[in-house]
Amino acid sequence: MVILPWRQGAPLILVVDDERSIRETLQGEMEREGYRTLTASNGAEAIEVCRKTLPDMILLDAVMPLMDGFRCCAEIRRWPNCANLPVLMITSLDDEESVAEAFAVGATDYIIKPARQIHWSVLRQRVRRLLEAYAAMRELQQRSDQDRKLTQITAHVRRSLDMRTILQTTVEEVRDLLQVDQVAICEFQTAAGPRFTVESTAAGWPSVAHTSLPVTVPETYSADWLVQVADDETMEVNSWYGQLIQQWGMQAFLAVPVLLGERPWGLLTAHHYSSPRSWSPHEVNMLQQLTLQLGSAIQQAQLYQQLQAANGELQRLAAFDGLTQVSNRRRFDEYLAQQWQQLANEGASLALILADIDFFKSYNDTYGHLAGDDCLRRVAQTIKRVASRTGDLVARYGGEEFAVVLPRTLLAGAMTVAERIRVAVEQLRIPHQNSAVHEWVTLSLGVTSMTPTATNSPAELVAAADHALYQAKQQGRNCVVPY
Ligand code: GH3
Ligand code: MG
Ligand code: MG
Repeated sequence: MVILPWRQGAPLILVVDDERSIRETLQGEMEREGYRTLTASNGAEAIEVCRKTLPDMILLDAVMPLMDGFRCCAEIRRWPNCANLPVLMITSLDDEESVAEAFAVGATDYIIKPARQIHWSVLRQRVRRLLEAYAAMRELQQRSDQDRKLTQITAHVRRSLDMRTILQTTVEEVRDLLQVDQVAICEFQTAAGPRFTVESTAAGWPSVAHTSLPVTVPETYSADWLVQVADDETMEVNSWYGQLIQQWGMQAFLAVPVLLGERPWGLLTAHHYSSPRSWSPHEVNMLQQLTLQLGSAIQQAQLYQQLQAANGELQRLAAFDGLTQVSNRRRFDEYLAQQWQQLANEGASLALILADIDFFKSYNDTYGHLAGDDCLRRVAQTIKRVASRTGDLVARYGGEEFAVVLPRTLLAGAMTVAERIRVAVEQLRIPHQNSAVHEWVTLSLGVTSMTPTATNSPAELVAAADHALYQAKQQGRNCVVPY
């Protein structure tokens, strides 16, 4: 970023003339005008001086030993950043040719010193005008650079839907835009109250992350949150920012509020430690535009988060049974078809258990529907606990009927699992006084296993398990029957 010429003091003028008396007169005249000065006695020396400290303007004698003003000017014009540096040629030559040459090598203007007599009022006017024009040009340049960067930053910020990425991108790019030592974001609504959560800090300066802000956040926007403190301003020491500035040893501080609609969300703050610094109205304006964009990017990220959560919940609802929290019938059908395909390719077997609570109708009649629901939940979770190998799926198949899909399982293995389920449910010792088979709630289970081929189908597997379950009911319930 270009530093404006008189940001750090009066304009600096380099006076170049081989004749000492003229040089000193020029220097004295410029200093009386309030400018700062540097001097050189020939073109080569002038270039040396410029390499160390770039002035805001050069008063350049045309004819000098070693290197004349024309060559010196041509050389300086080749440097980057020096295309528009005002170079005022002072020459005793007023012939057409030298004037043409002065402009040819890039002099901004020229003034003649007939018989070494400079017309002082003309010189003063020209110097002042050239400096003003140069400052305006640099400010314009700086603005257009910053505007271009602002457009870029806005695009970067709007590219993400992830909150952390948005905030981190913002602080990093704003620090680059303003060329400051630190940029941070304070969030008002954290669990611990208003505090700095994100920062970009130049090497060597202290982190402010997690620092809390001793403020009460207002309900609506208040102009108090737009704060500019520069080196030359007096500040309110007792204000919220006064404490921070003193505590951290800042030389300049800027805070711009971030709003979500009307509601204050937080602050974007810039901190400068290494040198005094002021904030131009254009810079403050840019940050206000940026925080506007930031606010809407945050809102968008929040909406996206809500949408993600809602989608996740929808997916869960679509696959799970609300009462028992095991898979629902829809998910069972889908999973069975998918495993059927997979195991047909592998040539492995697929087992299925169907389990049905014994005399559940009378359980409801005896203990009520709510107790019945509770019983269903406990039975479902118990089945799930037993059939817990990777790939096993427990589903609520119907009212008080459960299905267990066991991939890569032969009949003997499935029988073992079914028996474990039967025992585990019996061991829950849920009282069932009107059951004809037991004092506790029990299950009847039908078991089958098949190797999927082109000629059989999932429907056959289900029918076989259902048939075995029917047999279990016939054989007296609270038992496991294979197909
Ligand atoms: P069986 O031993 O022959 O299986 O007899 P059962 O009484 O268990 O069989 P039936 O099919 O006659 O009755 C099933 C009962 O399950 C009927 C219904 O009231 C109950 N039921 C089904 N879904 C729910 C539910 O979501 N909650 C509750 N509490 N009861 C349910
Ligand atoms: Mg039943
Ligand atoms: Mg039933």
